[in-house]
Amino acid sequence: MNALREGLPPLPPKMRDLPVDERGFPVPFFVAWIDGKPDHRIADPDKMAVCIEQNKCWICGRHLSAFKAFCIGPMCAITGTISEPPSHTECATYAATACPFLTRPHAKRREAGMPDNVRDAAGNPIKRNPGAVCVWVTKRHRPFRVGNGLLFDIGPPESTQWFAEGKAEGEAKGKAAGKAEGKAEALISLLSGRFGAVEPSWQEQIREADLVTLERWFERAIVAPDLPSVFNAPR
Ligand SMILES: [Zn+2]
Repeated sequence: MNALREGLPPLPPKMRDLPVDERGFPVPFFVAWIDGKPDHRIADPDKMAVCIEQNKCWICGRHLSAFKAFCIGPMCAITGTISEPPSHTECATYAATACPFLTRPHAKRREAGMPDNVRDAAGNPIKRNPGAVCVWVTKRHRPFRVGNGLLFDIGPPESTQWFAEGKAEGEAKGKAAGKAEGKAEALISLLSGRFGAVEPSWQEQIREADLVTLERWFERAIVAPDLPSVFNAPR
């Protein structure tokens, strides 16, 4: 039995029975075990079936309530779909704050030693860390079949909470400016996810904007057809 790594956020009670890997990370339910070792990069297709058929949490493997949480990147928020089944809100929040792939900006999934028979997730998953993740809680999600597997329509949200680099927007640095700062970073990630690199001059404007302005830009960023129209509202 390995000890939990120091510096991780406290484990929600539902995740306390999960095994712990050699690095000290809890091993989520969905992770495939290969030759007796967990490989966090690979989702076990059998676990996917269990989660869908038995209404279980993708992360802790326990029963889900009516509220289902998805840990999604900016692109999923726009397309409204994801390739992974839902989790408990507290389990998805833990992933958003502790998972190295989700909390380290620009981390790339390690491809070395991937077994040959591993299929990519359905849809067009990105293998690069999107920089910002959202815990999207819904009561109406729906799995549907696509050419290369299953996708989930994430449904209308009951609540959303964005995280950048493992910190909830608003928690960053615990000061009044922290909320705007977190929102600014999340907005920059969202914009670069949608429109590619955001020019430094735009980034500067975003980082200097107040919270009300940022919230307006954030709403527009989700539907805007191009980068300039995020900042200049069409009349
Ligand atoms: Zn759970």
